[in-house]
Amino acid sequence: MVVSQQKSIEEILKMLESEKSVFVVGCNGCAEVCETGGEKACEELKKKLEESNINVVGCTVVDFMCNKLLVALKVSRYKQKIEKADSVVALTCGIGVQSIAAVVDKYVHPANNTMFVGGFQGTWPSLERCAECGDCVLDITGGICPVTNCSKSLLNGACGGTKNGKCEIDKELDCGWEKIYNRLKKLNKLENFRKLVKLRDYSKMFPNKELRDTTFYDVEK
Ligand code: SF4
Ligand code: SF4
Repeated sequence: MVVSQQKSIEEILKMLESEKSVFVVGCNGCAEVCETGGEKACEELKKKLEESNINVVGCTVVDFMCNKLLVALKVSRYKQKIEKADSVVALTCGIGVQSIAAVVDKYVHPANNTMFVGGFQGTWPSLERCAECGDCVLDITGGICPVTNCSKSLLNGACGGTKNGKCEIDKELDCGWEKIYNRLKKLNKLENFRKLVKLRDYSKMFPNKELRDTTFYDVEK
């Protein structure tokens, strides 16, 4: 199970500061179990957004947002509503955010941070990957994860080694930061390149102290 935690409402509102209307999508899989997705979490977020004068033009849930095909099928039913909205807010893990960002021509904001993978672990059919970094930056990078798409996991790219769209580490790979550039350009968000990702606290990956201590310190003992 991919464990996620909702970002603070202040952080979500900051992401939406230039927007007046949104479409909310939540995951009914792992995120529903974590209470960061599913109908209840979507309704609660909808209420908070509307209290802050953001019009929620529609709201839906997808059974497993890590399955891009399922996401595409579900959101196709809401095409007109999504077109009317300034952006989409996704209550799901980092994989789910990347899945919906890949299938809609709208800016997608992550409402959650993905913390770790715990318990039963299934697989997902889509290529999108999340390294559960605990402080999701997909809002800046247009829904493409720099941690898993860049060979060096650079949070401020590109590194300067990219050539003809390929990564200098492996010429078979598309450069993750060139993909981010192209996505931001398509969505008129190139100004995001000025929003440097600040130093991060990676202990957020394990918010549960007991689990964190077991995972890291048992190795040293
Ligand atoms: S930035 Fe990437 S690794 Fe971090 S939570 Fe988001 S999708 Fe996952
Ligand atoms: S070429 Fe692109 S993907 Fe490769 S390390 Fe540099 S920025 Fe990352």
